[in-house]
Amino acid sequence: MPETKVKKTKDFNEWYNEIVELADLCDKRYPIKGMNVWRPYGWKLMTHVDQLIRDEMSLTNHQEVNFPLLIPESSFKKEEEHIEGFGSEVYWISHAGLNKLEERWLLRPTSETAMYPIFSIWIRSHADLPLKTFQIVNTFRYETKQTRAFIRVREIHFFEAHTCHVDFNDAEKQIQEDKEIAKRLFDKLSLPYILSKRPEWDKFAGAFYTISIDVLMPSFRTLQLGSIHQYKDNFSKPYNISYEGEDGKHNYCHQTTYGMSERILGALVGIHGDNKGLVMPPEVAPIQVVLIPIIFKGEEKNVLDACDDLSLKLSNECIKSFVDKRDITPGNKFYDWELKGVPLRVEIGPRDIKNNQIVIVRRDNSEKQSLAKDTAVNKIKEELNMISKSLYDTAKKLLNENIKRVNTVDEAKNIKGIVELPWCGIKDCALEIENIIDGNTLGEPIDDNECNNSCPVCNNPAKTWMRYAKSY
Ligand code: ZN
Repeated sequence: MPETKVKKTKDFNEWYNEIVELADLCDKRYPIKGMNVWRPYGWKLMTHVDQLIRDEMSLTNHQEVNFPLLIPESSFKKEEEHIEGFGSEVYWISHAGLNKLEERWLLRPTSETAMYPIFSIWIRSHADLPLKTFQIVNTFRYETKQTRAFIRVREIHFFEAHTCHVDFNDAEKQIQEDKEIAKRLFDKLSLPYILSKRPEWDKFAGAFYTISIDVLMPSFRTLQLGSIHQYKDNFSKPYNISYEGEDGKHNYCHQTTYGMSERILGALVGIHGDNKGLVMPPEVAPIQVVLIPIIFKGEEKNVLDACDDLSLKLSNECIKSFVDKRDITPGNKFYDWELKGVPLRVEIGPRDIKNNQIVIVRRDNSEKQSLAKDTAVNKIKEELNMISKSLYDTAKKLLNENIKRVNTVDEAKNIKGIVELPWCGIKDCALEIENIIDGNTLGEPIDDNECNNSCPVCNNPAKTWMRYAKSY
């Protein structure tokens, strides 16, 4: 029987590295560093998260597209800042067969430069706007730092929405919608997050501004799960994405993008897991309820039939269940499914059948209770909802207790999670604080950022609060 050598509560990073493989999410033995194999259980989890995203895209009238993986060098080089930002992370293709290519191609690190030359053909008039598209594809970045499953990889499972609008205000409305999407999506995943406006020097290459979606991991480091970008007309000018307005005049589009990645899985693993393994939020759990037959000689058929019967009733209610009929002890089965984080376990033995009941055990708090068989399905539904809520509450507590607003660098040094300090607006002051607390500038809070105190570095009046944290 496999065993977690490292406890989450002792060494989070080691625990994380170990659990992603022990719980069958991925296989890190592929011979290219940072390119991991998705195992069936992990891929199912990812596709369930993708489905939630697709549901949101459908609700907000985004259309799914799928652009080629390869981008010609000339398309990539049209927006200067963008090349500067990504140049050193790009994989290049210089040969096709035995021939050296006249123009190099690159593997998309993100798809602006693949999509926008085509958008400039698609968009002709104001009637074509807004254009709201998205794709879920793999992107590639040459990571030179230490890789970590789902968190820092070279082949990234990536969601990217790209929209085009008549003007800045319409693009701003899109940013509002993006925030609402984040709220609904991350609530379902029981992941509380913060939104920060990245500082100028750390915004997405080519963007007018960038809003990042960060969560706090139990290691007290933040993990960026996604970002929302306002491009203004920074890309539409070099890529010539323009439209004819009602007045017959030609205008450049204003654009936004929204990106999220498999890091969401990293957050699910890291934030909800415990010393026994994963704890999956019911909304995306590959298996929501596992049924364990407690077999005694002579009673096999009754017990297995009762399990199959309940499993069928659960699937009629769209609850994903699995009857574990393997020929190993119930104890070993309990251990396996705890490791994989199945939210609810059902046990059925001969005595339960006689008493017209089942036994359920919650993964999040190990609570065990007996339920009357007749009302069990509804009760299971309720329990799954309660598990989602309890996971959210626990994560929210971690975030709330470890995000603090202080006025001096000395106070900031003692804070383990996210710290907010007054900021005068000068880059060097923020970098000075990064140095002192050995962290990164996350950005200004989106709401409630008014600050009347003074910058702890230069003592000038602060313009805003600024967040700092150690991050992945
Ligand atoms: Zn200052």
